Amino acid sequence: MTWSSWLADRAALRQERGVERTDPVVRSHTMIDLASNDYLGLSRDPRIIAAAVAATERYGAGAAASRLVTGTLPIHRELESALGDLTDWPAALVFSTGYAANLGVVSSLAGRGAHVLLDAHAHASLHDAARMSRSPYVLFAHNDVADLDARLRELDGVRVLVAVESIYSVLGDAAPLPELYAVCRSHGALLLVDEAHGIGVAGDGRGLVHGLGLAGQPDLVVTATLSKSLGAQGGAVLSSASVRNHLVNTARSFIFDTGLAPAAAGAAREAVRLIGEQPELAAAVHLRASVIAERCGISPAAGAVQSLPMPGPLEAVAARDELRAAGVLVGCFRPPSVPDEISRLRITARADLTLDVVDSAAERVGKVARRTERVPT
Ligand code: PMP
Repeated sequence: MTWSSWLADRAALRQERGVERTDPVVRSHTMIDLASNDYLGLSRDPRIIAAAVAATERYGAGAAASRLVTGTLPIHRELESALGDLTDWPAALVFSTGYAANLGVVSSLAGRGAHVLLDAHAHASLHDAARMSRSPYVLFAHNDVADLDARLRELDGVRVLVAVESIYSVLGDAAPLPELYAVCRSHGALLLVDEAHGIGVAGDGRGLVHGLGLAGQPDLVVTATLSKSLGAQGGAVLSSASVRNHLVNTARSFIFDTGLAPAAAGAAREAVRLIGEQPELAAAVHLRASVIAERCGISPAAGAVQSLPMPGPLEAVAARDELRAAGVLVGCFRPPSVPDEISRLRITARADLTLDVVDSAAERVGKVARRTERVPT
């Protein structure tokens, strides 16, 4: 088989299964965007943009080298110390993306002799990280503390890294973190919590781990992205000083990657300041999330993400397209990007949209969803 016929074959198969993606659509600012992860609206906030410009003028457009060579700039250190202060962790290490942070932390803490256990709904980056670690890895049932306990029991005496999200990126539900952490502690396992969707929204903006009083606990490590609530780009690991030191020495996605661009670091640094000073930003997200939930007839989410199940992938795409034509952007998740084969619309709340705008957009989403549910599949 030639490469071109193999590619045509794969595209035909995707089309048949209704999972073929079209080329990404360019976002238009005339639309109401309930699909992005810019939960606090900070990516377009003039203070954040000014901070990005100031950092660029001061340090240049790029970091120009790996952090371990000459790519560590004062703005990286300032950002790391601000992130540590916001979330109450003694140390923070900034990566070029949240994806790279997950790859780095899992592959350098797991590896030979270790096992990785992932929540069944864990983000793709955690799966890739587990594969990169070359540790055996298995999934436990989503948010199921008893299942995790049983699997840890079978691995007694083995070094185990357990990875979960604090607020799930597609389902939007929260992990039972105190219970998961207690089970991990009782088996000597390390718990990694990906706060990509928690920082800025949960725990008054300081994240769910902080909100639950777990920040700084032993055998607990947090990853965060700077590209969602913080409105910038980049990722971070929040940890003890000894874990940070281990990452600096062993995390390949830190060592062999160019340092975070100054613009992103400057923007994120300012976003951290605003989030710390204004807990009302997070409160505004929760209020808007509850409006969306009510209009769509679903229970309110733990954070900004609302998940609206659809009968199938074709119906989900049709609903997304109909809403787009009406000026409302929502996310559309379907196999293979969902862990449970359920296609769904993903609707996100944003603090910077007025309640009226959110309400009328959500009403439209609810109407389309109700009509879609009545269409036989
Ligand atoms: N973890 C989770 C749970 C995510 O949702 C994402 C982004 N989709 C990432 C990690 C990766 O973060 P980034 O976009 O900063 O690479």
